[in-house]
Amino acid sequence: MSDVRPARLALLRDQLARTDVDALLVSSLANIRYLTGFAGSSALLVVSARDCVLLTDFRYEAQVADEVGASAQVRIEPTSLWNGVWLLLPTLAGVERVGFESAHLIHRDFQRLLEQGSRWNWRPTSDLIEAQRMSKDPGEIANIVRAIEIAERALNSALPAIHAGLTETQAAGILELELRNAGSEAYPFASIVASGPRSALPHARAGDRRLTRGDFVLVDFGAVYNGYCSDITRTFVLGAASNEQRTIYDIVCEANARASGALRVGMTGIAADRVAREYIDALGFGEAFGHSLGHGIGLEVHEAPRLAKTAEAPLVRGAVVTIEPGIYKPGWGGVRIEDDVLLTADGPRVLTTFPRELRELS
Ligand code: ZN
Ligand code: ZN
Repeated sequence: MSDVRPARLALLRDQLARTDVDALLVSSLANIRYLTGFAGSSALLVVSARDCVLLTDFRYEAQVADEVGASAQVRIEPTSLWNGVWLLLPTLAGVERVGFESAHLIHRDFQRLLEQGSRWNWRPTSDLIEAQRMSKDPGEIANIVRAIEIAERALNSALPAIHAGLTETQAAGILELELRNAGSEAYPFASIVASGPRSALPHARAGDRRLTRGDFVLVDFGAVYNGYCSDITRTFVLGAASNEQRTIYDIVCEANARASGALRVGMTGIAADRVAREYIDALGFGEAFGHSLGHGIGLEVHEAPRLAKTAEAPLVRGAVVTIEPGIYKPGWGGVRIEDDVLLTADGPRVLTTFPRELRELS
């Protein structure tokens, strides 16, 4: 596959010219990875019309050369990355106004800009690179598809080993071992296994509760491949499902299908969210769907765009988003079904293949 990085950099430079800054200090590691390929955990990147310089430390000396190639000049900074910035900036011709990423700079580092960097004119920027990252290219889509395949294979391998008596944490451990076995290079987040009444907590962590027959078992997890994440939720019943469990499950399943099928380029995140919300609301469970419909996935497990009541931005072609409606009844339990969906010019393509029908675990 051809190197996509020069085109990404060129697009960013166009944006910089429009934003009226001479250079951008990139401090988001995901953004640095997107522009240069560098996957380490310590770096700053400075991009101007002429230069693109990546600063990292000695731990990454071998890795950085390998990953970055010709996409940036690399400087291994022996003291601190910030010292590197103060040595670098005066050498860049014509750089006076420098943008920084307002969502990715902690206050202590902002103080540095005002103190050591007082000779430059600092301008806050937002989402310059994130906006570009919303639309995935074929290589990125292939990585996400692979991360989905790995997650699905892991879930298939883990399910036969999940039974009553295990704690949620143990069940999550079984799944995470299978994620590694299937080739996941990391976990995008700590896998969630929430059982019984705890499945009603939309962001439960796996805990000490033991799985019990009759429980909903909600599993929310993902894999990482070449830095790209998948994010999937399935809800099972341990043993035979009750009528009430089936009723709630079917509503969430239908809300998921309707929202996935309705996604279109140009639709706002608000409109997408509304498709699932109106359906759930009409059946009397509107109050029980307290979170947003979904979010973009890519190098980060939560990235632009958002599909939510307040997300005014239109969805772009190439976006990969989660569709994750849920119904949560406190003290009783909850259901969430989450798929990963690619938005193409011809409409939505659901990338998740794991069956959505209610499955009773033995
Ligand atoms: Zn999830
Ligand atoms: Zn999600």
